[in-house]
Amino acid sequence: MPERRPCVAANWKMHKTGQETAAYFDQLLPRLADLDGAAGAVDVVVCPPYTSLATAARCAEGSAVRVAAQNMHEEEEGPYTGEVSAPMLRDAGAAGVILGHSERRQLFGETDEALARKLPVALGAGLEPILCVGETEEERDSGRTEAVLERQLVADLAEIGAEEIERVVIAYEPIWAIGTGRTATPEQAEEAIGFVREQVRGRAGGAAERVRILYGGSVKPANAAELLQRPGVDGALVGGASLDPADFAAIVAAAA
Ligand code: PEP
Repeated sequence: MPERRPCVAANWKMHKTGQETAAYFDQLLPRLADLDGAAGAVDVVVCPPYTSLATAARCAEGSAVRVAAQNMHEEEEGPYTGEVSAPMLRDAGAAGVILGHSERRQLFGETDEALARKLPVALGAGLEPILCVGETEEERDSGRTEAVLERQLVADLAEIGAEEIERVVIAYEPIWAIGTGRTATPEQAEEAIGFVREQVRGRAGGAAERVRILYGGSVKPANAAELLQRPGVDGALVGGASLDPADFAAIVAAAA
């Protein structure tokens, strides 16, 4: 089975000015260096708000940390007030982009159709997408978790070729665990991620073994190791706990 390089991504959401971003990197980078090279075995990604992307990219220069955005528009440019395109993200120093975060889906009307258009654009621009999928509490309680994941994956990956799927990082993020302090059990995370990999196998065959699938939802230093040790869990997308550089470095250490 091919080795998948773990990936730990920090989703800052709407937090941190440029100055706060620089202070964060001042604290994060020495902590990663203290991991004695172990952090070098993990892809570490920081996703600040648009306004801090360029600062974060500058601060990360010369380190192994990569910077990614939290969303993008599928057009290159045009009359889309308030939106930011893939080339603009590249210009700001982003190497990747989160797509389909549940907060975008639930609060800002992000649709699977739009995500299907965004994924090929992100890949074409050289951005590594982190595609988020996951069910609500009501969907889980009514036994529809797998149906929801299947629907999202089929729709969101519809416009990219099977050979491109391994360039997408997928984050399984049960919505009931995001920002709630409730974490999926390691068994629930492993089971859902196994299902996601089966779906990818249906689309892309053996490449499914190379696709990284992360868990996201209230990951903290205290629970990271047990989640990340589960087979098939290739890393974490971390919200709240990623705002503290010491906590985020501890989660990277757990992945390493
Ligand atoms: C997220 O927003 O992607 C997330 C996982 O948030 P939290 O870690 O705060 O639950």
